[in-house]
Amino acid sequence: MGFCLFNNAAIAARYAQVHYGADRVLIIDWDVHHGNGTQEIFYRDPSVFYFSTHQYPYYPGTGSPGERGLDKGEGTTLNIPLSEGTSANAHRKVFTDALKTIEKTFPPDLIIVSAGFDSRRGDPLGGLMLEDRDFQEMTHQVMDLADRRGSGRVVSVLEGGYNLSTLGETVRTHIAALAS
Ligand SMILES: [Zn+2]
Repeated sequence: MGFCLFNNAAIAARYAQVHYGADRVLIIDWDVHHGNGTQEIFYRDPSVFYFSTHQYPYYPGTGSPGERGLDKGEGTTLNIPLSEGTSANAHRKVFTDALKTIEKTFPPDLIIVSAGFDSRRGDPLGGLMLEDRDFQEMTHQVMDLADRRGSGRVVSVLEGGYNLSTLGETVRTHIAALAS
């Protein structure tokens, strides 16, 4: 839904499985919107873990904690809804805790970040409060998880972000963290 014609993160995940032998792919979605398409595509698939933090209740309306996957995919979907105005500290804490939980149950061969920056404070669509330094820290946490699991492989896909006066610097910060 939203503005998407193709689900880039999902296509990348499947491509990596088929062509690069990445058996277990973790998709981390910090866009302000719930990635209902990504969730749906892998909802019954235990080889792709979908983890999303998102504003809730909010468009598109999905992403409650009870949505955890189905059949063989049960438990490989993790939704953490956040109310509008959630502080950056609280947001970061649930993100950190979730990564620890995921690492125990789903050590990934590859991590794909659905890197939406409409969860930054001041975004005209979103109501969350993350700052550039929060994205920097979250990027490092993702890379640390990838390193601990031996692969060190992280792919980041730009998703939302609608404050054109801040988006460039936020993306620059994220890419600098990826390159560090
Ligand atoms: Zn979004």
